[in-house]
Amino acid sequence: MALDEKEFKKKMEEVKGKLQKSVIVPEQLTRKDKMKFRCYPGIGCFTKCCSGIRINLTPYDIFRLKNRLGMSYHDFLMQHTVPRSIDGTPLPIVVLKMNDDKEKSCPFVTPGGCTIYSDRPVTCRYYPIGMAIMKKHDKKTGEDFFIKIKEDHCLGHNEDKEWTIDEWRADQESDLYDEVNSDWLEVVLKAKSLGMVEFSQKSLDLFFMVSSNLDMFRDFVFNSNFLNAYEIEPDVVAKIKGDELELLKFSLKWLRFTMFGEGDFKVSDEARQKARERQMAVSKASMKEREKREKELLSKTPEQILKEADTETEKD
Ligand code: SF4
Ligand code: SF4
Repeated sequence: MALDEKEFKKKMEEVKGKLQKSVIVPEQLTRKDKMKFRCYPGIGCFTKCCSGIRINLTPYDIFRLKNRLGMSYHDFLMQHTVPRSIDGTPLPIVVLKMNDDKEKSCPFVTPGGCTIYSDRPVTCRYYPIGMAIMKKHDKKTGEDFFIKIKEDHCLGHNEDKEWTIDEWRADQESDLYDEVNSDWLEVVLKAKSLGMVEFSQKSLDLFFMVSSNLDMFRDFVFNSNFLNAYEIEPDVVAKIKGDELELLKFSLKWLRFTMFGEGDFKVSDEARQKARERQMAVSKASMKEREKREKELLSKTPEQILKEADTETEKD
């Protein structure tokens, strides 16, 4: 949409206004920087941060939550999530479904606190420290930095307890979540740097399956040609068969490989040969089609060709 000078200035004022009201402290923090913060049952604002928020669910969030609730992936997704896409990308994910009440409160919050506290999503663990990842052109992976989120209702910032960002993240187990999700985070980061480019529907479907439904991925690995398509060591196959967390990490590595060619997956000779054969079959078919069209054209008189062209123009 093109804006004229006046509209442009108006838009800029709007953006400035929003930034002034922003709750993000515009300061880049490193892991060693310090902050004062404490959150505990009994603080005046207890659970005030558990309503009206959007919680994007990462693959490891879903893994922990559905195990905590003793549900299958399918049932968890149906009951507790809604589909959305990651901001600035077309990548489909799920977010936690909030209650349909006035406050849009989290389904797991009670006056006594969070009922799934030890398995709460990583978004809840980051708070009040947001993590951003900056990718430099010449680097394969991103460099992370941190941003403080200071909201008026959050009284934790008035407390005296001091932490480095690293200590806070260790206390909240955020690093564990980021480590398990690391390949997935790289995919998201790369997609964000590309913006709203068009991914094929197949890539988006694969992203959604790997990001949200490990049962489906398991089925894909063990009940399709997957294991013949890659050179995977037998001990890795045994590990992902018997250990759900290993399967999750494997799925995220594979996602990164299949979407951006990053990582050490090796396509098997058999799959390579099949892909070559498929490619040859496609080009043979299109050559045949071209020959057929040329033959048809040659069998027509110039009058017939002109008449058909006129009919096509009329249709347009
Ligand atoms: S999951 Fe727990 S910590 Fe997170 S918003 Fe819900 S109640 Fe609050
Ligand atoms: S608003 Fe801040 S201090 Fe209060 S419960 Fe939430 S995170 Fe803790």
